Amino acid sequence: MYQINLHNVENKYEFEELTKIFLPPEDFDMVLDGETPKTVENGAEAGDIRALDINLSGGAAKEDIKCELYKALSKETGKAPAWGTLTGVRPVKLAGKLVSENGSSGADRLLSEKYLLSDKKKNLILDTYRYQQEHLGKPDDKSFGLYVGIPFCPTRCLYCSFTSNQKGEGEIAGYLNALYREIEFAGELARKRGYSPESIYIGGGTPTTISADQMDVLLGRIKKAFDTKSLKEFTVEAGRPDTITYQKLGTLLMHGIERISINPQTMKDETLKLIGRAHSADDTRAAMKLASEMKVPYINMDLIAGLPEESPQDFAETLAEILDYRPANITVHTLAVKKASLLIEKDPDYHYRHGMVVAEMLEDAEKSLRNAGYIPYYLYRQKHMAGAFENIGWCRDDAFCTYNIRIMEEQQTIAALGAGGISKQYYPAEDRLERVPNVSNYEIYIERLDEMLERKELNLFK
Ligand code: SF4
Repeated sequence: MYQINLHNVENKYEFEELTKIFLPPEDFDMVLDGETPKTVENGAEAGDIRALDINLSGGAAKEDIKCELYKALSKETGKAPAWGTLTGVRPVKLAGKLVSENGSSGADRLLSEKYLLSDKKKNLILDTYRYQQEHLGKPDDKSFGLYVGIPFCPTRCLYCSFTSNQKGEGEIAGYLNALYREIEFAGELARKRGYSPESIYIGGGTPTTISADQMDVLLGRIKKAFDTKSLKEFTVEAGRPDTITYQKLGTLLMHGIERISINPQTMKDETLKLIGRAHSADDTRAAMKLASEMKVPYINMDLIAGLPEESPQDFAETLAEILDYRPANITVHTLAVKKASLLIEKDPDYHYRHGMVVAEMLEDAEKSLRNAGYIPYYLYRQKHMAGAFENIGWCRDDAFCTYNIRIMEEQQTIAALGAGGISKQYYPAEDRLERVPNVSNYEIYIERLDEMLERKELNLFK
């Protein structure tokens, strides 16, 4: 048990987050000046406690304290996490900020010396930032990203921490009726205030859980409600391969949808069973065959590194098969064992034990993807990721997804409709976002819809 004494610090949250990359939460107690250590409260024997003191003078910068803490933990544990002292979700955003404040070489130096990133991670975020600037640039102030959420899936995955419900047609129809009202309301509000979407993304859950007819109505309503004159991209994240049918793809194409996501996660059937996906690798093969025969222009495929009982060899085989399809985008996720998942109940330390395996998977994946001509175009990190790594979106032929980049940049308004949608109003003068959340439970969303609309009226498209 470690007792980490953090002197001259008022709030320990970020320092605890950094420590969790090295040690499981039950293995340390972080103590600020004046606090009673839990080890004392629990009557732990002095011999069981290893004390670490981080003692910088009052007023020391947070980054300097993190740097000291990282070095002390690294010495104790022998670990040197590649992301250095970074614990945030958006490292590319930090790279952008450092480049604009210090120039490219200044940012390069600070990422190594102040944030302790490995050369590989540093180059990854600097290159990704440059790619985004060259290919997309800054958004227009009155543009926004529209997200529409369908919070239903056929089954619940073991690692899921999203709003995902397993419900029948009646409940789904009730939800869609409420959603249509919100779409109409938000569309009118956006038009009135001079906003138009740059990108639209229908996500979930699994959007193709709904029927082809329901999808037809939904897409029709979205297109009617919003001013689509500046729309660059319209994505329907279909998701589970077993929900993709000829009729549904036909409906998407008829509405001009060019981007979909077919997410195998793995091509190993045993793992799919283990994680509760209720589809097989053959379902993915069938969905890809159908999508290619129907000439869907851009397909993203999601994979997860670090799934239970998978070896680097399993992951490499999955990736090799996916690369044969040459999809426009491949998103390689690292398994995150989040609080709301079934997996954390079963195995809370899972992500600590799988760090080495995931490191090997990601390293091999990067080589294969680069050899096949893919480039990283966006990335983000989450808490509780195996090995504290990252999720990377790869694209070929510059077929990046605008919505994904914008959401990570945080420099554009996002209107997120449906249960669990967190809209964010962007204030360019202050470079600041303000959250305008919807409730996440779909039944409460239906009940309290008027309240969600009022929030938007007051706080969105300002
Ligand atoms: S498909 Fe996605 S949203 Fe649905 S249960 Fe699985 S992880 Fe959750």
